[in-house]
Amino acid sequence: MTTDLGAQNLTALLDSARQDYSELAGRGLKLDLTRGKPAADQLDLADELLTLPGSKTHKAADGTDTRNYGGLNGLLELRQIFAGLLQVPVGQLLAAGNSSLELMHDAFVQALLGQVPGAQSRWADQGPIKFLAPVPGYDRHFSICERFGIEMIPVPMTETGPDMDVVTRLVAEDASIKGIWCIPKYSNPTGTVYSDETVRQLAEMSTAAPDFRIFWDNAYSVHHLTDDRVEIADLLGLATAAGNADRVFVFGSTSKITFAGAGVGFFGASEANIKWWLAGLSKRSIGPDKVNQLRHATFLGSAEGVLAHMEKHRALIGPKFEATLRILNEQLGGTGLATWTEPQGGYFITLEVPEGTASDIVARAAEIGVVLTPAGATHPLGQDPTDSIIRVAPTFPTQTDLEAAVLALTTCVKLVGYEQKIKQQ
Ligand code: PMP
Repeated sequence: MTTDLGAQNLTALLDSARQDYSELAGRGLKLDLTRGKPAADQLDLADELLTLPGSKTHKAADGTDTRNYGGLNGLLELRQIFAGLLQVPVGQLLAAGNSSLELMHDAFVQALLGQVPGAQSRWADQGPIKFLAPVPGYDRHFSICERFGIEMIPVPMTETGPDMDVVTRLVAEDASIKGIWCIPKYSNPTGTVYSDETVRQLAEMSTAAPDFRIFWDNAYSVHHLTDDRVEIADLLGLATAAGNADRVFVFGSTSKITFAGAGVGFFGASEANIKWWLAGLSKRSIGPDKVNQLRHATFLGSAEGVLAHMEKHRALIGPKFEATLRILNEQLGGTGLATWTEPQGGYFITLEVPEGTASDIVARAAEIGVVLTPAGATHPLGQDPTDSIIRVAPTFPTQTDLEAAVLALTTCVKLVGYEQKIKQQ
């Protein structure tokens, strides 16, 4: 009796989702929820950069002519602004080109073809090597490993970071595991903030590999969405205190602070790692774009200046996150068809749908003109074994387009979800 009623109910729910879907199909939507890009109004916030440093103001604080070659470490005044924000002593923080992803790619190339401090040989000469990949994670991280044939071992994310029972066990027993990807604050795509205990364990754990590296991609260190400016524990400081200073590579950038195509990337590490990095870098470059670094230092002014600037971003994107969460709640709350993260910062919301439905939902959305990040992108090799994770990136569309896209997405979740429930009965 109950089952019959349930079945009738489900059929009615599916019919209603089908109706909504065909109504949406008729609208000729053209909406995009794929990449975590800043919207144009966010970029406008930094437009003053286009007039900086200004003619006749090309000198750095120490008198360096920023227009000329040299200064591999990057401008001191900019490194001083970001040292505290990225939790790296200023002497161990380099300011580089326009992208931290490039620095991560470079780090692999240097470790494969050079020899990181503590290594017995180059990674390329060590036979097959592996990396730990917390999932869901960032597809561009995984693509770097994929490109170099580095096997990735997925590690489940928990609410406090990667599952450290799994991490500590694997790294202790397998010397071919050379490192782990980490996005410690407002993680892409779950919004997870690593707990102090997770950071401490990462700093102190025993690793079978003497040349183990934590790729600490602090891409969202200042990207708060609430009044609570979340702080995480200082990995480099804790690792140094534990005698493991060399295991940490810190990355960051101003991509989602100023201009995503014309910002500044940062690399921080132990003194030995920095010496090693600069030796390799000196073969690759005669110096970074110091004019860009000078204009960033002038525009941002101080760490407080960075945080004040981020408040302006929050005013623009906060309502987009709120609207997304509101619609998810209104449309999917209580349906049992999805759960989602409620990030306190960063750029993404992760939507978890019933196993085996994510790719179908993404495909149905595409059919009605709503493009989502491909299902599976949050996992190594683009393969989510549960086919249940969808990454939602609310920042780039206008508020109106975003709301229409999220509503359409929830319709697809209902359509596919109810279809599956009926099949399973
Ligand atoms: N790391 C993470 C976690 C990101 O989400 C992004 C941008 N989507 C990047 C790095 C890219 O940073 P950059 O622009 O500095 O290369």
